[in-house]
Amino acid sequence: MKAELIAVGTELLLGQIVNSNAQYLSRELASLGIDVYFQTVVGDNLSRLSEAIETAAKRADILLFTGGLGPTQDDLTKDAVAAVLGRGLHIDRVAMDNVEKFFQGRKVPMTENNRRQALVIDGATPLTNETGLAVGNAIAQDSKFYILLPGPPSEMKPMFEHQAKPWILQHVLTEERALYSKMLKFAGIGESGLETRLLDLIEQQTDPTLAPYAKESEVTIRLSTKASSELEAMERLEGLEAEIARRLPEHLYATEDVPIEKTIVDLMTEQGLTVSAAESCTGGLLMQTITSIPGSATVFLGGIVCYSNAMKEKLLNVPHDLLEGENAPGAVSAETAKVLAEQVRMIVDTDFGLSVTGVAGPGYSERKPVGLVYIGISRRDGDTEVLELNLKGNRDTIRLRSAKTVLYHLWRRLKSEQQKQ
Ligand code: ATP
Repeated sequence: MKAELIAVGTELLLGQIVNSNAQYLSRELASLGIDVYFQTVVGDNLSRLSEAIETAAKRADILLFTGGLGPTQDDLTKDAVAAVLGRGLHIDRVAMDNVEKFFQGRKVPMTENNRRQALVIDGATPLTNETGLAVGNAIAQDSKFYILLPGPPSEMKPMFEHQAKPWILQHVLTEERALYSKMLKFAGIGESGLETRLLDLIEQQTDPTLAPYAKESEVTIRLSTKASSELEAMERLEGLEAEIARRLPEHLYATEDVPIEKTIVDLMTEQGLTVSAAESCTGGLLMQTITSIPGSATVFLGGIVCYSNAMKEKLLNVPHDLLEGENAPGAVSAETAKVLAEQVRMIVDTDFGLSVTGVAGPGYSERKPVGLVYIGISRRDGDTEVLELNLKGNRDTIRLRSAKTVLYHLWRRLKSEQQKQ
């Protein structure tokens, strides 16, 4: 089953907006086992749009359109598809009620052109727009499938998820088995390291398939299989997942597509634990990462950004002679990381205190190389673990990797405590 995406809109061709709809739909279709061979972008022009439809219909089974469903004269997608299919257009009563109610609610008169938003191609299934006015369309003709979605992603995504996807499963993928995937997430290991440890599984793969890819200090493996139901698929993926988990227990932190900070917040919430952080070179990135997770408030109590030496001394009681002086270890040192982690834990009164201090670059600091970072994890009534990292990359990458590495070691610590219980 092959699909072609047709994004309609002159602003896309002018570079005024990015075709993010294509990225979303390509991913969604891939997860259904539908191959996207072409992504087309065409302006708001009837003859060029018709040409694009005719070309796509020759090389794809399913054509998905985004954009051009609005009220104005340059919104031409329905007109073009109807013309190519030799069909007329009619006003859909339910969609028209929706448009009228919208204007009544706003107490503004509805202009006549808004009726266009309720147009449906004769014989097509109307796709309800939950977050906007323009109705979508889905229609099959001559063994080809045409799905028309609105341009704004906030309208397109719910329409795809709740209307178009079920329609595809019911009308398009009737004979075929759909592709089901499961994500495994790893931290503390790079893509190549992970591949080496799973090389035999990767080389032998047929069904299920196994695809690793790396993003923002985390590696994802997507396990996929074609099956006629989710249950059948998950049963088939179980064995492979168990084998991977057996080989990489110290890196596999989740069996769904979540960042490590989400797993940490969940684990700490379950165990009633709290954490604080003292950050130098990451300038708050670690705290921002943790607090991006909803529900982190019960786990993360607070922290301190101590960028300068003066603030390390003043706010976190780092001894002056540890920071400055001929033979002092300096701000970027294991000693300072240890004090920062212990002090923030005591000041904020949490079960764990985290710290990061290092050289993010581009210049050297304290005559220490770019990428040298020390991280600390201090445990209430326990020890303080300090690690030296030698990271590669630019300033942003080093800062991000520092924060993610702290999280990785915190996760390991939480796991090992959980296992001991
Ligand atoms: P409207 O009812 O808002 O006119 P429409 O279905 O006619 O919706 P367009 O007029 O083509 O859609 O686009 C409306 C807006 O949707 C664009 O200004 C842009 O912000 C967004 N948009 C359109 N196409 C895309 C796309 N392919 N990717 C991301 N955003 C898009």
